[in-house]
Amino acid sequence: MHNLQKYDYQKLLKRAESALPKDAVVKERFQMPKGVVFYEGNTTILKNLAEIADIVNREVEQLFTYLLKELGTAGEIDGERAVFQGRIPENRVLERIERYVNRYVLCRECGRPDTKLIKRNRTIMLKCEACGAIHPVAGKLKKD
Ligand SMILES: [Zn+2]
Repeated sequence: MHNLQKYDYQKLLKRAESALPKDAVVKERFQMPKGVVFYEGNTTILKNLAEIADIVNREVEQLFTYLLKELGTAGEIDGERAVFQGRIPENRVLERIERYVNRYVLCRECGRPDTKLIKRNRTIMLKCEACGAIHPVAGKLKKD
């Protein structure tokens, strides 16, 4: 009997949670994803490239291409990781990730990451799904 009551309580709790407005969960302050960087021989590994792309809801290739260009090196995607040629200081890698997020992900009006990139007259724009703001993105993502 005791077990049954406990189960019911858990069930009620679950139901109460799912009844919460989605916004209550989503409105938490955005946490800048932190890159995990280490070195293998003469290469720099960004261990969690795929995870970072996932957090900011962007294509892995797009983030990777941006980093390659910004870091001025060559490299490849290796599963979840990015492999860059040469030893690049960790700070530089982290700073570029942050720059990418600030430029291509976060809304300049409300600071939310719920945005997507759209193209308008050959210009890449950042459209915010939270507040509706649209901003042009400075700089190009890919070579035209
Ligand atoms: Zn916004």
